[in-house]
Amino acid sequence: MERKEGKVVVPGDFIGTAEEYVADHGTYVENEKIYAAIFGEAKEERKVLSVNQRRALRLLGVGAVVVGTIENIVEPIALVNIESGSDVRESRFGESTDYAVLHASMIKKGYVKNVRDEYKIGDIIRAKIVDVRNGELRLATDSDELGAIKAFCAKCRHPMKLEGGLLKCEGCGWKDNRKIAKDYRKADVKTRW
Ligand SMILES: [Zn+2]
Repeated sequence: MERKEGKVVVPGDFIGTAEEYVADHGTYVENEKIYAAIFGEAKEERKVLSVNQRRALRLLGVGAVVVGTIENIVEPIALVNIESGSDVRESRFGESTDYAVLHASMIKKGYVKNVRDEYKIGDIIRAKIVDVRNGELRLATDSDELGAIKAFCAKCRHPMKLEGGLLKCEGCGWKDNRKIAKDYRKADVKTRW
């Protein structure tokens, strides 16, 4: 059995068998299989499996504006690693361990089928917390001031600049689309790269 400690899971993720483990908080059992019931970090301790929410998620409330990185995309949702509160300059890049989810339908006004149509892994976005339900933090970027504040080329990973309403890679010239914040790259964003 693969060790699951430290793995970020979403509701419905299989994390172990009831034959081998005891299911604890944040999980549910179906047909002898243990699944994550909430969004969080799966942990195994003495054969007991649980899913724990990241500490700071509970401190943020609905309406709070946060800055985070698109850490993973599991259509139709993006997992966002929250880096800071609304003030980008106070961010502690590299130290953060807080996650939230962004559903494709909450990216912008109008229909978005896939997260990948608007964001790519590694993009830094500003988002608003719109719901905290069953211990899950949900985000939206559907207003002018919200969206990508720094995006990276899907081909070569260089930062992208805004040119004629489209984003253009500073490295290879690749053009791409994003749901951007109106102050795209005007905010003073420090990054890990
Ligand atoms: Zn490029």
